[in-house]
Amino acid sequence: MENKKINIHDIHAWWNKAYSAGLQTEKDLLDKEPNHFIDLIYPDSVNSFEDIVFVLAKTGASRALIIFNENSCGFFGHFYKAGKNKMWFCQTDHQNAVLLRKLFPFTAPSSLKNEELTFGMGDRLDFASPGHLRTIKEYNAAPVLAQQSVRELTLTGRTYAEAIDSATWAVFQEGYRKPWGADGDHLKTPEMVREALGVGTTMITADISDYIRDEYAAADSTAVREAYNELDDYYRKRIERKYLENGYRFDTNEEFRFSAENLARIALIYKEALDFAGVLFTAGREVKSDFDFEVSIDETETPTSPQAHIFVQGELKNASIEFVSLAPRFIGEFQKGIDYIGDTLEFEKAFRTHAAIARYSGGYKISVHSGSDKFSVFPIIGKETLGHFHIKTSGTSWLEALRVVAEASPELFRRLYTFAVDVFPITSSHYYVTPDFNKLYGIDNRSDNELAEALDNPHDRRILHIAYGEIFKNESMKEELHTVLQENTERYYDILMKHFHKHLEKLGAKRKQ
Ligand code: ZN
Repeated sequence: MENKKINIHDIHAWWNKAYSAGLQTEKDLLDKEPNHFIDLIYPDSVNSFEDIVFVLAKTGASRALIIFNENSCGFFGHFYKAGKNKMWFCQTDHQNAVLLRKLFPFTAPSSLKNEELTFGMGDRLDFASPGHLRTIKEYNAAPVLAQQSVRELTLTGRTYAEAIDSATWAVFQEGYRKPWGADGDHLKTPEMVREALGVGTTMITADISDYIRDEYAAADSTAVREAYNELDDYYRKRIERKYLENGYRFDTNEEFRFSAENLARIALIYKEALDFAGVLFTAGREVKSDFDFEVSIDETETPTSPQAHIFVQGELKNASIEFVSLAPRFIGEFQKGIDYIGDTLEFEKAFRTHAAIARYSGGYKISVHSGSDKFSVFPIIGKETLGHFHIKTSGTSWLEALRVVAEASPELFRRLYTFAVDVFPITSSHYYVTPDFNKLYGIDNRSDNELAEALDNPHDRRILHIAYGEIFKNESMKEELHTVLQENTERYYDILMKHFHKHLEKLGAKRKQ
């Protein structure tokens, strides 16, 4: 994109020449200055506000917001003047992000309620979002850029505010002008819900799995009957009237009924969890009148049955909990960063029913968690939901960053790999993954240019995937990793584009005309 008043190529060349020659008006700042040599002005970042031109530039290891004006419009930075050229170099920090969102509202997250296909693209490293945006802008799909769970934030030592700021700068860099979301993912307490919404998330994923009483799934009939009879009288009458009297027929021509025992069992499993969903929703409403609420019941042992799904959505509605998406626990295994494990025909049958229930019950989105790399079931997800779904990915972008490292710094990759294997006993306590150590691609006996292939092996992938927290805790490793990524941002974006194109194509996402 070329702006009328600023030719970025001219500016780029002129500036670097002047800067190298020691251009400086505020002499006292000279020594304390960050590097303001421009490596690249992002072409899609050229924006103007009341005739003042703003661009984002890559300046060595960081980025700078450049404002071509005498007045900085309130942004904090350094002022330069040479002849009639006046410009501000401003840091891409929190203070400036807050102002940027005010001046350019497209850099602020918003609700994605009205979007058909929404795609969670978590970025633990703060380097991936531009690559995500370059992919998704080609499709009729809306990204949730800042999507982090409490677990991820703890392991990466970040806050929700930082994750949102990072997305804001990426959106500005890529000139992405369509709605995008920010998800407080897997939140388990009212405090966390209030905090996440308070700093600007637009979506809340309520994780109520701690309150799911899975033990009733296997309890015998007598135990179920006894426990059920202890529930409130009014409650029992209400749900019996609601769920026992009618059958449910969906557009897939399937019909489901509840037996008395089945209903009792499901009520016992989900009642507390559903009450807690209400607590989290109410907490959110205290902070924000409108946000995209997702209810997740996926982190549990037993796959969600059709009846359980019917009951959960019915009870959420009964409690006036307005939810945009629901994440059932699917049949088979959804381990992070690798393909689906299980019988795809069985998955297809069960998923078709979940999609039909969502359609029948008002059209909320089915949400697919740990959704990255599930290539063998993506066509099913796209087809059965008619393209109306939410999917979450995050760790896969971290794995693709390691691909950049394998290519650009084989020596660092070898160290990271060895470290990841060493800390596996620790990291596997945070995540459920089951790699087979006998089936690793490995790094010993591999030449440097073979190393990236470790990232195509599902066993190596799982070990590397969950190692991010321990790697980030190691300051020097983290710094080396950042340096490699900073020096190879464009390569990283390209790798991400290839990876996410494959996701969107398999999911049947429509390309923009
Ligand atoms: Zn989940």
